[in-house]
Amino acid sequence: MSEALYYYATPGGRYAQKGCPASPEVDETLVRVLRTLDETARAGVFAPVADSCDFCDFQAVCGRTREARAGRKKGDPRLAAFLKLREIP
Ligand code: SF4
Repeated sequence: MSEALYYYATPGGRYAQKGCPASPEVDETLVRVLRTLDETARAGVFAPVADSCDFCDFQAVCGRTREARAGRKKGDPRLAAFLKLREIP
């Protein structure tokens, strides 16, 4: 059986691995995620999410106002597809 694997490549993620059995559904989800991230970046939209930053090594870069900035941008229609990715189980 094949397996899809996500590797956390930072100390904050403790270099953990999460896996699930590979399937056409997993492949479709991966394509959807990569396409959405590519399209969002190509549009020049880089959204802070800022609701689970404890693991992140870049908190100093985003600063203390990151949660307020993220909250202001949640309703931006350019972020709709990106934010919808967070509903993927
Ligand atoms: S600190 Fe910034 S880059 Fe890190 S998870 Fe939070 S919003 Fe994302």
